[in-house]
Amino acid sequence: MVHAPRHPREGERLASLRSYQVLDTGADAALQALTAAAAQALGVPTALVSLVDEHRQFFKAATGLEAVLGEEAHRTRQTPREESFCAHVVATEQPLVVPDAGADARFAHLPMVTGPQQVRFYAGAPIIGRDGLALGALCVKDRTPRRLEAAALQVLTDLAAAVAELLELRRLDAAAGLHAVPGLHDGSGAGSGARQVLDESHRLRAGIDAGELVVHYQPVVDLLSGRWQGVEALVRWEHPQRGLLPPAAFLPIAEASGLIVPLGRQVLTLACTQVALWREQLSAAAQLHVAVNVSGRQLSEPDVVEVVTDALLISGLPASALTIELTETSAADVGAEVDIALQRIRALGVRLALDDFGTGYASFSYLQRFQPDVVKIDRCFVAALGRSPRDDLLAQTLIDLGSRLGCAIVAEGIEEREQVAALSALGVRLGQGYFFSAPRGATEVGHRLSSPETVLGS
Ligand code: C2E
Ligand code: MG
Ligand code: MG
Repeated sequence: MVHAPRHPREGERLASLRSYQVLDTGADAALQALTAAAAQALGVPTALVSLVDEHRQFFKAATGLEAVLGEEAHRTRQTPREESFCAHVVATEQPLVVPDAGADARFAHLPMVTGPQQVRFYAGAPIIGRDGLALGALCVKDRTPRRLEAAALQVLTDLAAAVAELLELRRLDAAAGLHAVPGLHDGSGAGSGARQVLDESHRLRAGIDAGELVVHYQPVVDLLSGRWQGVEALVRWEHPQRGLLPPAAFLPIAEASGLIVPLGRQVLTLACTQVALWREQLSAAAQLHVAVNVSGRQLSEPDVVEVVTDALLISGLPASALTIELTETSAADVGAEVDIALQRIRALGVRLALDDFGTGYASFSYLQRFQPDVVKIDRCFVAALGRSPRDDLLAQTLIDLGSRLGCAIVAEGIEEREQVAALSALGVRLGQGYFFSAPRGATEVGHRLSSPETVLGS
């Protein structure tokens, strides 16, 4: 018998999973909607959100469960871990495609394969929680062997990320005691997926209007001198009941509801105004830059160039002090109008940055398409530095490519001194990460900027 492998940090992983308080909880309309979307997008009868616990996998949401599970498992919504495909996804934190389970020695013996359910095809993508550890997998199953195209696997991976974001929202709700509200997440009564998105977007709309959005700032530092070259603006929601919420807890709702447009406009104006003020009031901060994240949806708005122009005018910030950050995923399905808007924004003197470089599946084509001034190397490459010659080569190649195209390189997610040294050796000049400072509120950053210990300059 082949045993299901364990995650290398299994103890921590289990602790992280349990902190979500979702095991053995009821159905969740929004998660349910995501499994239905996965099944439909991949053209399979079954899709499941499987949370891999110590000895079992628990199905938090499912579409077509009865098609692939026996009566008992259907009733208890769980199966033994040893009999699970998803345990393999969790152990490696990588997507897994099994075209024909009957011909795969790891799975051919599983009751789900040999028994009446006759599962033959499996594909799963890891659900990575806030601690960076796999909680489970979003998976699809079918009774006939089949192959999966790369684009379809990417859809599954994206949906798994959406599952992780929703689970994070649930965790925050649970922490704030909101899980006790009947019908909020359980799909009963008025709680359909669409209804829930609507409710949450109403709350967000009210929050935006009430000025509950705040901007935190994380320094972008010259790795050799330690000087602060600029700051990145990162939005937070000061929720009256739930406390300070990270973007992952509300940006998906903002994107889905279109509220990302007024939200993004507010962040842009707040950030430009704050940084212009620091530049004016603190002589040492006279050259400070600011980078603001924008979503593809914002860039598709017909008045986006005016929004940027207005933010600069209102704040008095010179265009050369502003960088607009765009992620590959946010720009994935936007039209040609975005290319035109970006060129007009660039013509104002604003710089463009490609965020999370290397993580999307179209990184290279976006380099070509947007011709960014700055490339931000995603933190997963920084975290992998020194792990193997292959990982180092990958980081080196991304850095070289960006540099040779004339882009400034910023490394993200620097947490350790060794990473500073390794990145400097690879020719990276700028970086940000907890090693230097986590993102902090404006007051705290203002104090840091006034402190003689903070070295400023470009
Ligand atoms: P991003 O633009 O790539 O921002 C970097 C993220 O990495 C931030 O997460 C930051 O807190 C986190 N980070 C910084 N240093 C470290 C480190 O050393 N280790 C680790 N593990 N993480 C680090 P945050 O603030 O949760 O933001 C997440 C994402 O949300 C951002 O990723 C950005 O894509 C998006 N976002 C944030 N603010 C806005 C906004 O105003 N508009 C839009 N459209 N998106 C935003
Ligand atoms: Mg960013
Ligand atoms: Mg990033």
